[in-house]
Amino acid sequence: MTDAHDTLLRLAAGRFSGPLIRALGLPSPRPLRREAGGYRSDELAGRAVAWGTLPGGHAGDAARAALQALGASLKPGPVWSTQERIELAVLDATGCCDVAALAGLRGFFGPVLRQLAPHARLLVLAPDPADAGSAEAAAVARAIEGFVRSLAKEVGRLAATANALQLPRWADGQAADRLLGPLRFFCSRRSAYVSGRVLALSAALPGGVAEPLAAPRLAGRLALVTGAARGLGAATAERLAEEGARVLCVDVPAAAEPLQALARRLNGEALTLDISTAQAPAALCDWLCAQGRGLDVLVHNAGITRDRTLLKMSEAEWQQVMAVNLQAILSIDAALDAGGLLNEGGREICLSSISGIAGNLGQTNYATSKAALIGYVAARAALLAPRGISVNAVAPGFIETEMTRRIPLLIREAGRRMNALAQGGQPRDVAEAVAFLALPESLGVTGQTLRVCGQALLGA
Ligand code: NAD
Repeated sequence: MTDAHDTLLRLAAGRFSGPLIRALGLPSPRPLRREAGGYRSDELAGRAVAWGTLPGGHAGDAARAALQALGASLKPGPVWSTQERIELAVLDATGCCDVAALAGLRGFFGPVLRQLAPHARLLVLAPDPADAGSAEAAAVARAIEGFVRSLAKEVGRLAATANALQLPRWADGQAADRLLGPLRFFCSRRSAYVSGRVLALSAALPGGVAEPLAAPRLAGRLALVTGAARGLGAATAERLAEEGARVLCVDVPAAAEPLQALARRLNGEALTLDISTAQAPAALCDWLCAQGRGLDVLVHNAGITRDRTLLKMSEAEWQQVMAVNLQAILSIDAALDAGGLLNEGGREICLSSISGIAGNLGQTNYATSKAALIGYVAARAALLAPRGISVNAVAPGFIETEMTRRIPLLIREAGRRMNALAQGGQPRDVAEAVAFLALPESLGVTGQTLRVCGQALLGA
C-alpha cells in the first residue's frame, strides 16, 4: 500500500522512476507491507524463524512454543542455508549479564544481515534491567537497547524493523501466555511502522489467556473509542470491530454525520459528546448503565492541537488543549471507576505523541498534555493491575492524516522522512498498535508507552 499523498514513496517504488530517484541520491523509501483484516489464529503461518539463544537464556522454551502456536517454523542458527532470505530472526539474549556476552549480538545478527529479506522482522528477547543483579548486568541490559536501536536504523532502508522485548524472570507458566500477543505483533506485518522499540513485559496482571487463539478475539466485548469520526480514531474503531468488538464511537456533535456513518458500517453505536464538557463523564456512564454493562476496551483517542510558540500562546489555547487531551481523560476515568464501569480484564489505551517525548517547537501545550499521559498510564496501570486491567499509551510519530496534510510542505517533508523507514505511517499502523494492546493476550504489557513512529529521529 503506498500513500497517494507521498509522491516520493510512489516514485521510489516505480519500476522506471525508482532507479532515477536512487541515482539522484534522494531518500528511497520502500512501501511497507501491512495486513488486512483481523488476526488469524496462525498469524505467522509459513514463516521461518532464524532462532538463536545466547548462553543462560531463560525465554527460549516459552518463546519457541508461542511462535510455533502462531504457525511459525523454527530454524536454529546458524544452520539456515546460505541461499535463504531471512524474514524473521529472534534471539534469546535474556541470559546476557556480562560485557563478554554482548559479542553474541554481533555473532547472531551479523550473518542474519547478510541474508536479510526486505520487510524482515528482527526481535531480541532481552533481560529486564529491573532484575539485574549487578551494575554490570544493568549496564548490559541497557547496552542491548542501544544495539537494537542502531540495528533498526541499519535495516530501515529494507523496510525491515528491529525491536526488543524485556522479559522478567517469570514464574512457571506465566511466560507463554504473556509472550503470545507481543510475539505475534512484533513478528508480523502488524508492526510495520514500529521499529527501534524496547517494550518491557511484566507479570503485574494476574491470569492467563484462557481462550484458544481463534479469531475474532474481542467477540462479545464492548469498546469505546473517542474522537472516532475520522483519522486515527476511525481506523482504530474499524480495527477493533475486525476483532469482533462492538464499538461505541464518540465524537463532537459537529462530527455527527461521519460518526454515525462509521458506527452503522461497523454495526456499532454512535454517541455525540464533547468529552471536555462537565457533563460528559456522567453522560457516558448513563449510556453504559442504560446498556447494563461496562467497558472492556477504552481508547482515549480524541485530541486537539492549538500550536503557537509559548510567547504568543493565549490562555484559551493552553486551556483547550489541556481540557480535551488531559483533563477529559482523567474525569472520564474517575467516573468510570466510581461506577465500576471498566470491566475486570479490561484494556485502556491513551493516545500520546512523540511530541510528548521529545517536545516540539510551538507545542508546549500539546507536548505537556501528551507527556502527562505517559506518566498517567504508568501510575494508573499499577492501580488497576489487581483487577487484570492494563493501561498503556501509544505515541504516534508522523502519521498520514488530515492533520499532517495541513502542515506546510517543507516541514511536512522533514517530518515524514526523518525516521528509519523514511516515510509517514498510516492510521492503520496506529490502529494495529492499539488493537495489540486491546486484546486479551497483551496481558504482559501494562504501564508502557509504545511508539508508532518508524523510529523517528525525534526522542529516544
Ligand atoms: P484528528 O484531528 O484527525 O481527529 C481527532 C478526532 O477527535 C476528531 O474527529 C475530532 O472531532 C475529535 N475530537 C476533538 N475534540 C473532541 C472532543 N472535545 N470531544 C470528542 N471528540 C473530539 O486527529 P488524529 O490525527 O486522528 O489524532 C488522533 C489522536 O492521535 C490525537 O489524540 C492526536 O493528538 C494523536 N496523535 C496524532 C498524530 C498524527 O500524526 N496524526 C501524531 C501523534 C499523536
